[in-house]
Amino acid sequence: MIQMKNVYKKYPNGIVALNGLNVEIDQGEFVYIVGPSGAGKSTFIKMMYREERPSSGQMLINGKDIAKLKNRKVPFLRRDIGVVFQDFKLLPRLNVYENVAFALEVIEEKPQVIKERVMEVLDMVGLKHKAKMFPRELSGGEQQRVSIARSIVNTPKIMIADEPTGNLDPDTSWDIMNLFEQINSTGTTIIMATHNREIVNKLRHRVIAIEGGLIVRDAAGGDYGYED
Ligand code: ADP
Ligand code: ADP
Repeated sequence: MIQMKNVYKKYPNGIVALNGLNVEIDQGEFVYIVGPSGAGKSTFIKMMYREERPSSGQMLINGKDIAKLKNRKVPFLRRDIGVVFQDFKLLPRLNVYENVAFALEVIEEKPQVIKERVMEVLDMVGLKHKAKMFPRELSGGEQQRVSIARSIVNTPKIMIADEPTGNLDPDTSWDIMNLFEQINSTGTTIIMATHNREIVNKLRHRVIAIEGGLIVRDAAGGDYGYED
């Protein structure tokens, strides 16, 4: 359902971040994206939610080239794709409940539906009791759980995560991975860029390794394969 065809990306400064990628990811897969810093992992991930566009090639989701989407259509695409970042990107002036509800308010969902759905996802990530707290009052792991709740509140088919455990201690990282496993078990595709060797080697899933803007390895149940 996700397909890249000859995806090439040259940034305006002349750097070629992706050098002709071909890949297919089916609905429900869990895929780790690994590789050294500067390899092109973030660029790869940004293609999938139209944060960047290919300079050439096709970026297909369910057969549609999202590179060709009009800018005003991008918010609709983003409703079907949950995104989680290393630095959480929560809105500091909104409380936990409001950070999660926001995504439903913009689509003008009914207030009662919003309330039920927000409390349901906060319950799932174990933060129902902290609904009124602000991001700065939460630990890093709790903030990441809020951002995961926000990313799934629209029940997206695809979840994209760029180094989601990058700022978390090992125990907290495992908690976050448990949530990802749970989300994936409901049929959501997960694509996660990571440097976390322990996680990749323990929770086995497909591993795509990128180096110098090229896929150098693609293995079901693969290992991390780097020493860093
Ligand atoms: P990774 O996530 O694997 O560290 P990135 O996709 O962030 O790799 O970067 C790949 C290459 O593209 C690097 O050389 C990086 O410096 C460059 N790059 C990334 N983003 C930009 C940008 N917005 N403008 C110019 N160059 C960029
Ligand atoms: P329950 O499902 O247990 O009845 P509630 O709906 O009472 O849960 O809400 C649980 C927590 O979320 C409470 O702290 C509540 O005040 C808070 N909350 C509910 N709705 C909102 C809202 N619109 N804005 C901010 N916090 C809210």
